Amino acid sequence: MTILALRRPYVCREMVELITDYLEGALPRSQRRRFDAHIAGCEHCGEYLRQMRETIRLTGTLTDADLTSAMREEFGELFRQMRDEDARDREA
Ligand SMILES: [Zn+2]
Repeated sequence: MTILALRRPYVCREMVELITDYLEGALPRSQRRRFDAHIAGCEHCGEYLRQMRETIRLTGTLTDADLTSAMREEFGELFRQMRDEDARDREA
């Protein structure tokens, strides 16, 4: 697993915020294009999206409650780690 694609953790955090709208087809077209482009190049967000789709498949729905669950915590932690690694890279 590489983190080379993760130079912009701010964008990743934004993606997590947008993901419910994305999955509900509620995103404006321009944002949806941006989302698709990011997902295509970011394996962490791609994995997050896959897990979200799996959640929908299993539960038949996706609510904000799902996003505030342990999974969201887990990804929040992941994105914090990515940001820290990014900061260390800049210092090196
Ligand atoms: Zn990302």
